[in-house]
Amino acid sequence: MPRSTALITGASRGIGAAIARGLARDGIRLVGIHYGHDRAAAEDTATRIRAGGATPVLIQADLARGAAAAAQVAAQWKDAVALHGHTGTDVLVSNAGINGAQSIGQLDTATYDRVLAVNLAAPTFLLHHLTDHLNDNGRVVAISTGYTRIAAPTHIAYTASKAGLEGVIRAVAPELAKRGITANSVAPGVVDTDINADWIDAPGAREHAESLSAFGRLGTSEDIADVVRYLAGDGGRWITGQTIDATGGTRL
Ligand code: NAD
Repeated sequence: MPRSTALITGASRGIGAAIARGLARDGIRLVGIHYGHDRAAAEDTATRIRAGGATPVLIQADLARGAAAAAQVAAQWKDAVALHGHTGTDVLVSNAGINGAQSIGQLDTATYDRVLAVNLAAPTFLLHHLTDHLNDNGRVVAISTGYTRIAAPTHIAYTASKAGLEGVIRAVAPELAKRGITANSVAPGVVDTDINADWIDAPGAREHAESLSAFGRLGTSEDIADVVRYLAGDGGRWITGQTIDATGGTRL
């Protein structure tokens, strides 16, 4: 069952960019590259996708505006799909996220609201607006975190948002399955991307994070993108409502 169109949020860099490039290599013809403020990075992802023969579509929206931003992304994406002569969405990957690390004692409402808006409200309402646009046998993937099952005392809002997102995906899976559409979450461990820039270079931090994985290294964006590519392909047809651990065997 060929899939032709994919929308990936936060696809300008890191895991999202690797997913966009990987799906294009797998035969997706129209790739929606949503980004926030980093236009130059989004254009770089677009250039790589164009070089591979697929058509990129850039969609800007600040997901800190939550449901309103999701409506804007969905509308722009639907217009682009029609403009380029395609019908519907085959693959939707909600990848954009922020961590807003704070312990329970540090927690402030502004950070909490922002993290919940980007990580939970935006992907939930993006799926809401695109549900009727999803093609039969389509794929929905949300990027969660291993922290939903591994205690992370400094990530209260982050854990709440990602656990909520996994719950949304689990809840919608039976409804989408009636159309052959799968919906799953992928839960990475520590991956070597910009989201960790504020702590990974502190003395001993990288070595500690590496030691938590069974493989003794950090994950790469491609490690995660390859799991998404599997779920997005025909091989993923019998997996739905699940959270796939992609932490490299990370332990407490
Ligand atoms: P990253 O910081 O490189 O990428 C995050 C992406 O989200 C960027 O493209 C960024 O522009 C986008 N984004 C953030 N805030 C936004 C906003 N307000 N509006 C629009 N876009 C916004 O980090 P990454 O590691 O590639 O993160 C991708 C996903 O993986 C995130 O959901 C993150 O929570 C998850 N994750 C990452 C790790 C890790 O260690 N890197 C671990 C577990 C889960």
